[in-house]
Amino acid sequence: MIINADAPVKEVRHADLQRESDNSLFKSKCPACKDGVLLIYREDNGRLREFDRCIACGQAVRYTDIDDLRKLDGVGIDNEEMGETNE
Ligand SMILES: [Zn+2]
Repeated sequence: MIINADAPVKEVRHADLQRESDNSLFKSKCPACKDGVLLIYREDNGRLREFDRCIACGQAVRYTDIDDLRKLDGVGIDNEEMGETNE
């Protein structure tokens, strides 16, 4: 049931959320309903999206530590930004 679809965007740190499973790097358990999952979506260029929405309750979240996640993921970010200077 989409009960939180109209709720204000919740600002969360991805690092503080519980992962959906041990082998899931990005999927998190929803902080609002404890039952749903935040999947993390990608932008057209493959970069991880800052905004996410719970698949169960519809709660919208914004990851305040999205930059760290994007570095971890490494997609859609140029190498200089990641501090990689090795050729
Ligand atoms: Zn939820």
